[in-house]
Amino acid sequence: MTDTGRAAVFYGPERRFAIEEFPLSEPEPGAILVRVTIAGVCGSDLHTWRGEMGTPPGGVITGHEMTGRVARLGPGVTRDSLGRQLAEGDRIAYMHIYPCGRCYVCLRGPMAACPTKRRPANLKAPPYFTGAFAEYYYLWPGHYVFKIPDELPDEVVAPVNCALSHVLYGLQEIGLTFGDRIVIQGAGGLGIYAVAVAREMGAHRIIVVDGIPQRLELARAFGADEAIDLNEFPSAEARVARVRALTDGLGADVVAELVGMPSVIGEGLEMLRPGGRYLEIGSISRGNTATVNTQDLVLQNKRIVGINNYSPWIMPAALDFLVRTRGRFPYDRLISHRYPLDEINTAFEQADWQGPGGAATVTRAVLVP
Ligand SMILES: [Zn+2]
Ligand SMILES: [Zn+2]
Repeated sequence: MTDTGRAAVFYGPERRFAIEEFPLSEPEPGAILVRVTIAGVCGSDLHTWRGEMGTPPGGVITGHEMTGRVARLGPGVTRDSLGRQLAEGDRIAYMHIYPCGRCYVCLRGPMAACPTKRRPANLKAPPYFTGAFAEYYYLWPGHYVFKIPDELPDEVVAPVNCALSHVLYGLQEIGLTFGDRIVIQGAGGLGIYAVAVAREMGAHRIIVVDGIPQRLELARAFGADEAIDLNEFPSAEARVARVRALTDGLGADVVAELVGMPSVIGEGLEMLRPGGRYLEIGSISRGNTATVNTQDLVLQNKRIVGINNYSPWIMPAALDFLVRTRGRFPYDRLISHRYPLDEINTAFEQADWQGPGGAATVTRAVLVP
């Protein structure tokens, strides 16, 4: 192992990323130093890149969706979270948050909401490597780590610790059940996984809403029954009417917001049947607000559930899901673009489908350090 590693430091939306070198530290007891093999550009990374989330003045290593190999085990770490022997070189998937397990929120649940779940990044002191867009990643003591089944290539595993686990956890928490009709707002990385997971959970009808034809086509390839194209149904009224027409005039049992734009929440709630449940995952940017018809919410007994992160048990369930369904869903189509770490600025420009230079064809861009 060398004694330094490279990382892409983000300095805010004007200066963007710069590749810099940092010293590697020996992992402390209970920690693991990971050699990152692949890191995905998640929608929330794009929010940060556009300046919607705030950036610390001294720069930060962003990125959280990734997988890697054990580079160095800290003293006392011999097994993964399911008790399987760990050795240097093993492929691992891991959570990038650290619910403390002992605060009021962790005790009462859900652990995903633990107020101290994030370890602060610090580029001035070791271990430096606290983001995915780097050659190494430091897993602090108290991590949750899982060996990767041999059947799964790294490309398929990279989105497990964010996109796939969020969707799996969210659809569990919203109580999606056998026979439900579900509307998925947004066919990006989250939305495509939601189609696959909803299919596996026994949804009867899956309706996807998006404005990019390639995404809608991919959603169909993952098992969506109906695609509502924003170009064909340009108004919220038309889309709500279309959902009603596809659900026997009632509306959907579940609507999931996986777009990241609060403006879609109002129409999403209208797409619900009385007693329906609205899952809010996408809208994470600072200052996002939405106007909600509260009379409709109350009189029709609708529910809204917000989800960020997930419980640790979701990760091995997500890996099992991928092993079980890898012949059924075209996971190899999810990653559309690969870039070396040095080309991270290009990767973000092309992945930013909301921006003027955005290539709508990018489903998921990954960086290979
Ligand atoms: Zn993410
Ligand atoms: Zn806690």
